Amino acid sequence: MLGTGTSSGVPHIGCDCAVCRSTDPRDRRTRPSILIEIRDHGGRSESAPLAAAVRFVLVDTSTDLRAQALANDVRRVDAILFTHAHADHVFGIDDVRRFNAMQRSSIPIMAAPHTLAEMRRTFAYIFNPPPAHGGGVPKLEPFAIGGPFTLGGLEFVPIPLMHGPTPVLGFRVGAFAYLTDCNRIPEESWPLLDGVRTLVLDALRDRPHSTHFSVDQALEVVARLRPDRTCFTHIAHELSHAATCARLPAGVELAYDGQVLEIHE
Ligand SMILES: [Zn+2]
Ligand SMILES: [Zn+2]
Ligand SMILES: [Zn+2]
Repeated sequence: MLGTGTSSGVPHIGCDCAVCRSTDPRDRRTRPSILIEIRDHGGRSESAPLAAAVRFVLVDTSTDLRAQALANDVRRVDAILFTHAHADHVFGIDDVRRFNAMQRSSIPIMAAPHTLAEMRRTFAYIFNPPPAHGGGVPKLEPFAIGGPFTLGGLEFVPIPLMHGPTPVLGFRVGAFAYLTDCNRIPEESWPLLDGVRTLVLDALRDRPHSTHFSVDQALEVVARLRPDRTCFTHIAHELSHAATCARLPAGVELAYDGQVLEIHE
């Protein structure tokens, strides 16, 4: 879990609330992103040697990507998936230049077609660069997501979600699913989540919000999916890590920056 905070991060600039002043490191939350490291998973990689070379899959390039890469010693990114094009999920994209340089290659980015279109507009300097640009621009190879795809020998299943009026994508890999930035799971997406055992799910705060699940709404999703373990993410400053975890049901916790979830299939 590279970042588990809401769009403004926690602490909020200029806020004196108990969570923003907390000395618990789990109350310091950067903008939402995860890194998936694909370890040896036996057998399945032989048929697709190129795809099997993918080991580190970044989900979103958060505003805090540079700080997250340094904090977690991220040295390689083989592919980047985007959930949607909101600022907190894309504005670290310029930091990808460092991975281009270390890996001496461009990096594939994968997103829904409307998300790619929005990124092309927002980042015209990357996708339609001027002839000479000091320092260079990120070298990215865009791929439109139209259904499940394979990376590192594993199948990634895009999960359509609603984030207020905005369609976004969650991603499922095996029995793991990452569903950030959503306040509704469309009926047709529920079957795609059958059998998920480790779930990372948006839960902004206790009060309802127009584009994010509240804690109670997220718990309703947990009650329906019944994963073994659920970690809430995209957390605002209303939720203290320790106090919130203490009142959540068994198997449900708040995620925190730097947390490592091991998934065994
Ligand atoms: Zn967000
Ligand atoms: Zn605060
Ligand atoms: Zn968003």
